Amino acid sequence: MINKFGKTYTLSCDICQEEVNKTFFDFYEAVNFKKDNGWKSKKDESDEWIDVCPECEAIK
Ligand SMILES: [Zn+2]
Repeated sequence: MINKFGKTYTLSCDICQEEVNKTFFDFYEAVNFKKDNGWKSKKDESDEWIDVCPECEAIK
């Protein structure tokens, strides 16, 4: 998920909870990072959007 902390954003995987060691200053910067680095956005069983890192995506 993308978390907002004041004026910055962080990105973490909703499966392994691993957080990207990077700070974003714009929501879309984080979205673009996901696209560029093989992250996937998908819906879980309760229809919530989750962000999945490339490692977790590879396991599935
Ligand atoms: Zn993960």
